[in-house]
Amino acid sequence: MTASEIRELDPQTVERIAAGEVVERPASVVKELVENSIDADASRVTVAVENGGIDGISVRDDGYGMERDELERAVEKHTTSKIRDIDDLESGVATLGFRGEALHAIGAVSRLTITTRPRTGGEATELTVEGGEVTAVRPAGHPPGTTVEIEDLFYNVPARRKYLKQPSTEFDHVNTVATSYGLANPDVAVALEHEGRETFATTGSGDLQEAVMAVYGREVAEAMRSVSGDGLPEGPLDSVGGLVSHPETNRASREYLSTFVNGRYVTASVVREAIVDAYDTQLAPDRYPFAVLFLSVDPATVDVNVHPRKLEVRFADEDAVKDQVEAAVEQALLEEGLIRSKAPVA
Ligand code: ADP
Ligand code: MG
Repeated sequence: MTASEIRELDPQTVERIAAGEVVERPASVVKELVENSIDADASRVTVAVENGGIDGISVRDDGYGMERDELERAVEKHTTSKIRDIDDLESGVATLGFRGEALHAIGAVSRLTITTRPRTGGEATELTVEGGEVTAVRPAGHPPGTTVEIEDLFYNVPARRKYLKQPSTEFDHVNTVATSYGLANPDVAVALEHEGRETFATTGSGDLQEAVMAVYGREVAEAMRSVSGDGLPEGPLDSVGGLVSHPETNRASREYLSTFVNGRYVTASVVREAIVDAYDTQLAPDRYPFAVLFLSVDPATVDVNVHPRKLEVRFADEDAVKDQVEAAVEQALLEEGLIRSKAPVA
């Protein structure tokens, strides 16, 4: 091999490779867009997908919307209204997004249309992007808020499109994302539609049990017990709260263990383990309860600057986090008489 074989990639190829880092499948698009809607202070977010999201994805919100010039900037590379510099990041971000790359990346690998109108009044604007090129910006009709529509994800990256799974599998992933945000934000009315049919819709009343009912149904909602986190042992977590199910309401999959760190949906194996361990012998092996658990922690002790696609978080002191979560869930189950005390009787 000679050095002459090393060549610079053309910008278009670089763009598509970079986009693939953010956008892996329809569910990752839905995640980015729903986060944007929640960051925009929406009280209603409706996700609609076609063919598992492979052919079409639309996310509509009633958030603060964008002015025309903001919209044009939003689809450029690394543009965000959420942080200014690395200091903002280190002091902990209050928004779900901050990388400023989602809209740009999505636009690079699909046909993207954003229609938006500022909540403060003013005109609505529609902007279209095709394979990374802005093809039109024009006045449009839209209520205050934003609608983002994606057609033909990866139409220009055939290798990527080929890797997508069956539409039903892609839809399962979309459903998991939409469900998580519905549970994490009981004060936002989150709805999901597939092929025009509603899968679930939360009311946005602010009541967590009601959100659980909307996504998992009445039986599960009624089996939920509240975790107060009162008297939490000392440790890295400032608080632990939410709902866990009666041990008899369980499933053969971990997917109903929804955990949130500082409002962000994450999978943390140490937290899942702690929840399951709290049930002690009340759960058969390979059975898992339902849980919707919110952990809050000093942002400095957890890495939020994780890879955009990565849901797994790591805590600085994993053992201490496990002890705290286990104690909080144990306490909830003990109070309800659903497990027996492990401590020797005094
Ligand atoms: P990030 O969320 O990291 O800032 P994005 O590419 O996802 O990056 O979005 C870029 C910018 O576009 C955001 O910072 C925000 O100002 C604006 N934006 C995106 N989606 C919405 C929306 N649904 N409503 C209002 N503004 C939005
Ligand atoms: Mg974003």
